[in-house]
Amino acid sequence: MLSSLLALKGLFLGGWFITFFVAERLWQSSPAPKSISRLSKNIGLWLLTVVLSIGVVAPLTAWGINNAFWVRSSSWFIGDGFFAWIVIDLLILDCWVYWVHRAYHQFPLMWRLHEIHHRDEFLDTTSAVRFHIGEVALSSALRLVPIAILAVPLHTVILFEVLLLSASIFQHSNIKLHAGVERHLSRLFVTPSIHWVHHHANQSDTESNFASVLSFWDLVFRSRSATKRTEDMKIGIEGVEDMGFLRLLLLPLIRPKT
Ligand SMILES: [Zn+2]
Repeated sequence: MLSSLLALKGLFLGGWFITFFVAERLWQSSPAPKSISRLSKNIGLWLLTVVLSIGVVAPLTAWGINNAFWVRSSSWFIGDGFFAWIVIDLLILDCWVYWVHRAYHQFPLMWRLHEIHHRDEFLDTTSAVRFHIGEVALSSALRLVPIAILAVPLHTVILFEVLLLSASIFQHSNIKLHAGVERHLSRLFVTPSIHWVHHHANQSDTESNFASVLSFWDLVFRSRSATKRTEDMKIGIEGVEDMGFLRLLLLPLIRPKT
């Protein structure tokens, strides 16, 4: 069951990634740098997290689900409502991810991991998978808390992971969308215009727009930036430069001055 669901998830996300990777090169929103080293660095970081996800995160999540604190009763709260439960679980998990993301910006030890993602000096689909292996491990471990407490079923966890990565690929992409389409979409979902502002090399914008899938969390918790994305918006961390693959991997352990 787990292996076939994971295979389906991989197939879908692989197709989604390739679609956006090609589309953002055909219909660019911001002028993209021609840097193969940036792409290979992001893909390299991704490959490490894929190994971690398949080897550790997936079996650990399945273990967490099987050892949940309680078994969900069909008579409690909303009875057998299969789809209602899926919606409630997805909302809770998305809200959880919002607060975990906020914590990565709030606490210096967590920022040490998350800054590898923010040091990227341009955004495209590969930025969506550029995370330090330690951040993926910590986020996955933290996500086990609501999953175990609420006894979230395996199918919902995998559905959420598909939604989360699909949304991440979409919102980091450099695809040019029709302004009206993006405006309507952004009322419910985090679009590139919202998330690029989170990557703006401006401290106050980096400390805003934390939502991952649904955009209204930033409005509910008052963290939405008023800044509008522009084509020449500088991406990265204010006053900080990106670095090479190995140095990025070691960065959480050693603290250079920049
Ligand atoms: Zn962030």
